[in-house]
Amino acid sequence: MASDAHCKTILQFFMLERVITVTSLGNLMERIAGSEGNSDALINKINDKIQEFSQKIVKTNCEVTGEKMYVMIFTADDADVKSQLTKDQIDFFYPLMDKIITSSGSIALITALNMGPAVTMSRVTLADAEKFIELFILKKLLLLENGYLYLSPLTIAEFRPYINENYNLDPCMLCKKMLVFGESCPSCCTPIHVQCLKDFLHNSKKAVKCPQCKEPLIAQSA
Ligand SMILES: [Zn+2]
Ligand SMILES: [Zn+2]
Repeated sequence: MASDAHCKTILQFFMLERVITVTSLGNLMERIAGSEGNSDALINKINDKIQEFSQKIVKTNCEVTGEKMYVMIFTADDADVKSQLTKDQIDFFYPLMDKIITSSGSIALITALNMGPAVTMSRVTLADAEKFIELFILKKLLLLENGYLYLSPLTIAEFRPYINENYNLDPCMLCKKMLVFGESCPSCCTPIHVQCLKDFLHNSKKAVKCPQCKEPLIAQSA
């Protein structure tokens, strides 16, 4: 069982970093407590302490890398993002988030840069846009992979109620959870998380059929 001192150290880590992979948390516990322990139990204990401050640590999967991670979110609306960004940054961040969600979960960095002046009547210049996007990545609000921007696990967890309310997204056909970025069935187009698909293929021995439409899930290579 994790001691109060260990909980405090881990909480301090979360307040600073907000995000940690399940593997890294295990390593961190090993370093400070001498054993990996039960990380879910540890997180529950911390959550009991921080819920009165409208904060919560949740376990989630990164839609892009598939890594299992814990993220610390604020449960009171989107107050946190608003408190840590300037007005211009917020006026750029929301349209950016909207564009990513409505573009199947990712947009090219160059598209995002050009949006800065476009969505703010040039209050955010191209140079500002570049700096702001760097900041959004640094604050773990966005992910940049191979020239494309994605919503981070932190943003998806924190904005889950907002995204649910404002967008009519089809959930992942396998885990039934919200999906912003993923693959989709070539026949019925039902979306599926990259990692859920990987796990599904890994666990299936014969020809893999879409659980939704029963057509082959992977386009047959000629
Ligand atoms: Zn899924
Ligand atoms: Zn299908």
